[in-house]
Amino acid sequence: MDRFADIEVLRYEVPGFEQLSLQQKTLVYYLTEAALWGRDILWDQNCKYNLAIRNVCEAVFQNYKGDKNDGQWKAFEQYMKQIWFANGIHHHYSNAKFKPGFTQEWFEAQMAQLSEEKQKEFENMPIIKNEVYMDRSQKALPILMRAMFDSTYMAIKVNQADGADLVATSAVNFYGYEDGELTQKDVEDYYSSKKNPNDPHPVMYGLNSKLYVDCEGRIAEHVYKEDGLYGTAIKHIVENLNKAKEYAENDQQKKVIESLVQYYRSGDLGDFDTYSIEWVKDLASKVDFINGFIESYSDPLGMRGSWEGMVNFKDSANTARTEIVSANAQWFEDHSPIDDRFRKPEVKGVTAKVITAAILAGDSYPSTPIGINLPNSNWIRAEHGSKSVSIDNITAAYDAAAAGNGFREEFMWSDTEVQQANKYAHYVDNIHTDLHECLGHGSGRLLPGTDPDALKAYGSTLEEARADIFALYYMADEKLVELGVMPDKEAYKAGYYQQMMNGLMTQLVRILPGDNLEEAHMRNRALIAYWTLERAQEDNPSAPALEIVKRDGKSYVRINDYEKLRQYFGELLGELQRIKSEGDYEAGRNLVETYGVKVDPTLHAEVLERYKKLNIAPYKGFVNPRYEAVKDAQGNIIDVKIIYGSESYVEQMLRYGREYAMGE
Ligand code: ZN
Repeated sequence: MDRFADIEVLRYEVPGFEQLSLQQKTLVYYLTEAALWGRDILWDQNCKYNLAIRNVCEAVFQNYKGDKNDGQWKAFEQYMKQIWFANGIHHHYSNAKFKPGFTQEWFEAQMAQLSEEKQKEFENMPIIKNEVYMDRSQKALPILMRAMFDSTYMAIKVNQADGADLVATSAVNFYGYEDGELTQKDVEDYYSSKKNPNDPHPVMYGLNSKLYVDCEGRIAEHVYKEDGLYGTAIKHIVENLNKAKEYAENDQQKKVIESLVQYYRSGDLGDFDTYSIEWVKDLASKVDFINGFIESYSDPLGMRGSWEGMVNFKDSANTARTEIVSANAQWFEDHSPIDDRFRKPEVKGVTAKVITAAILAGDSYPSTPIGINLPNSNWIRAEHGSKSVSIDNITAAYDAAAAGNGFREEFMWSDTEVQQANKYAHYVDNIHTDLHECLGHGSGRLLPGTDPDALKAYGSTLEEARADIFALYYMADEKLVELGVMPDKEAYKAGYYQQMMNGLMTQLVRILPGDNLEEAHMRNRALIAYWTLERAQEDNPSAPALEIVKRDGKSYVRINDYEKLRQYFGELLGELQRIKSEGDYEAGRNLVETYGVKVDPTLHAEVLERYKKLNIAPYKGFVNPRYEAVKDAQGNIIDVKIIYGSESYVEQMLRYGREYAMGE
């Protein structure tokens, strides 16, 4: 729906929302409000000038009356869309600061067109718009201009370069109110004096605070809490959580919400652990949510949590599918084409939950993960477990986008494969994940005495390959059609073709010319595909089941015999299981090095060239649907409506800026 720079913005649907009870819908409604109120916290965490820059830019954006085809305007419009998408002036993925394609002169001329009142407001802005710390002696505007236009200033959000002072050189707003106020060593010393290595239940130090130097020169934490840093936003979050609590589905869910509110009030990380434990225990509720300071990827030292929100509910049909697969774990183990000595006498499938996202917020918006596994605290995971979910409606939206972007038409051999993929891709992706995650990794056993680390550096690639080949082998099994988790006997072909095309060719779009394959999943896919290609050639040189053929100077993967392919997959599964069970390092190393590492430079160049012409956006994100509470005369909610398509990306961003502003 909106395409700019390296970004494509999509919509997602929320199937099943209408079928929720009024109580559940109302619960979802208040939880989405609580999620949306965290937006400005994340903006401020990402860089201390983000909110002020957004305010100034949005004012210019909305006030512009000039030619919309003007090059300066077009560049500014793109910049505006980019910072909205990234929740700040640094790219959400690369962390590099955006380079405006318009000039400072042009921008200042636009500012001069603003109303007198607005101009005054911006001129008198304190240097740091922050509820705890404001320096009114210095004007902010010149510094904002520097942050926008001086490419050397605050150049990178999260610096991970080996040898650099990661705190002093990262623009992220976790350390100090003045530039260079704290060094990496200051921070490390501060926390090493706090941590007790013998504590079996350590809190996640630094997760919900900003570190700074107080007026007496001591290093101290400003804690994010209701009467602390980000208090105005947190008050709104708490208010909506308290309303949500009234509509909780059961006592456990009520406890979860209460303990989260308690944590937002106290800012005590022990309270956060209590909340996390209650959250893990809440398995019966249909509706679930994340709301808080969660992932620490944006802290160069990996401690501070970026604010994130998501509301979701269980996708019962898809969860039932993974449960059927898991419940039959023993059948799959017993029929696996591996040596009997490597078989598990008793196998337990892992059940994962499939969910439907109802709102994406904070660090999950507009760019979002397709799966979540929380909490992050190691001891809570070990003692209380964790929740692992995949978000089906988001994956479905990605798949729908992939069906129309020309990629399949460019790389697939014929219309047959394209149709097959358009019809079955989402289905086989789901089944592949189920078989890989719920059964593949857990199948088979080591021979007595085999060192679990015998495969060393090749271990993770070989383990991913084993889980993948397990999934491929069984994807074609009639048992899955019998169990009702595969629609028919043809569907698996889409999975086979996709996997072979990806492993042999198209995954190469993700690496640069001259590079080898490094990442475990990429290596495993190449290993499976190139091993099978060679096996097919040897087995039947004149009519191989799998081959790479040329047409009009372009290379294509062609599968001539799907059943034969499955037979080869069975052989490879047997061999990969043997290597793991016996800890045969040499054979494992040989497989990876022969099939999984090297790249054919000619084929790579061809694939890159063809991909470039498709002009596909490497990053995608989403516009949220809107929820509207319908109230009776007494103010009681009598219905919650979900509205799709009522606002564009730009409209949604401007509305969120108006309605959920943290304020000063
Ligand atoms: Zn895996």
